[in-house]
Amino acid sequence: MIEIKHDNATQTFNQVAFQNILQKIKLEASTSENNPEGLKTEFKWLEEIGALKIVLPGELLDFNKPNMPALLNMLQAIGKANLSVGRIFEGHINTLYLIHLYANETQRNHWFQGVREHGHLFGVWNTQAQNGIEFSTQTDQYIVNGSKTFCSGVGIINRALITGNINHENRKGWQMVIVDMSKIADDKIDKESWKPLGMKASQSYTVDFSGYLTNESDMIAHPGIYLTQPYFSGGAIRFAAVHLGGAAAIAENTIEYLKDLNRTEDPIQRLRISNIMMQLVAGKLWLEKAGKNYDEWADDKNQEDELIAFANMTRVTIEDICLRIMDESNKCIGARGLMAPYDMERVFRDLSFYLRQPAPDATRLNVADFFINKQKATHEFI
Ligand SMILES: Cc1cc2nc3c(=O)[nH]c(=O)nc-3n(C[C@H](O)[C@H](O)[C@H](O)COP(=O)(O)OP(=O)(O)OC[C@H]3O[C@@H](n4cnc5c(N)ncnc54)[C@H](O)[C@@H]3O)c2cc1C
Repeated sequence: MIEIKHDNATQTFNQVAFQNILQKIKLEASTSENNPEGLKTEFKWLEEIGALKIVLPGELLDFNKPNMPALLNMLQAIGKANLSVGRIFEGHINTLYLIHLYANETQRNHWFQGVREHGHLFGVWNTQAQNGIEFSTQTDQYIVNGSKTFCSGVGIINRALITGNINHENRKGWQMVIVDMSKIADDKIDKESWKPLGMKASQSYTVDFSGYLTNESDMIAHPGIYLTQPYFSGGAIRFAAVHLGGAAAIAENTIEYLKDLNRTEDPIQRLRISNIMMQLVAGKLWLEKAGKNYDEWADDKNQEDELIAFANMTRVTIEDICLRIMDESNKCIGARGLMAPYDMERVFRDLSFYLRQPAPDATRLNVADFFINKQKATHEFI
């Protein structure tokens, strides 16, 4: 069982209730994959135990405090229960973090109040194809043109942070805007666009935002701020944590499967289990260190490059770890173990697909650049 480790015993977040919800989410995963309503029930449960507001001021994992290792533990635990729930929850946390970092006080209070009082679920949709987002002026408002792809959780997200190009005398560049999803008609959501190998339950459909009217008060900070470092690259440790949760589910399922079949005395199977568990623990250690580094370095301009390099290394190492765990587990359980109703049939599909994240090659090359170019790196890392 993965717990959120935290010293502050006065907070109200109930760890036992959280573990119970995770168990329910896990048990529902094979059904919810094909539920047209998506993961509505799962997020209702998470809202009821206070998980959606957990990073807001005064809450257990308040962004204003050094809570990154605990947040990564939480993301990992949710990913272990269901990777699609983990994906959408991570998007919610990412949006709240962008609001925390860059929104003005009035906006922050308004959007955080939506989470506290109405259980609003947020998402960040930055990815797009050729027909991406443009904002153009329309009297005293802006009109949106274009679509976003990979809009995770679109059917259940209440407020989406979308990005797009703006070309106005006061604003030029890549602008963040919060969209009220209740104003987006169903026929703007292209459900046929989502026929993935795995992560079906994340319902990451393409959404056409054309015609949506937005105001200055919906715009977060200036154009270009979305890409501010070290936050932009450093945030990759959050999705890496969700990924490792999927690998933990595979590790646990593999051992249970071999036990059920009385195959644990075989030395080759034992060797593979030891390889799986060593990889998993290595991943946990990477995340733990990445979380600590994040807390120590995020607000220190002198450590920006170190933070990015460590986050990049963590992300690609965890990708490799997940692939190795899947490879070893695959051989352990064979075809029979990869068939439904065994959970592994779905978790393998989900993890294989979700591991495909932006710019994996460039991320590795950036790590090389850091060590080749930075004199200081040798003192920090070696
Ligand atoms: C389940 C899931 C949910 C998602 N949800 C969201 C979401 O809510 N919001 C959001 O904004 N995004 C979301 N995404 C999108 C995600 O952030 C990435 O954009 C996407 O996964 C990258 O896709 P890709 O592997 O096709 O990328 P690609 O960029 O096509 O990469 C594929 C390969 O090509 C290589 N490559 C890239 N560029 C070049 C080039 N110019 N020349 C040669 N090789 C190249 C890469 O290194 C990699 O090896 C989601 C993705 C998944 C899988």
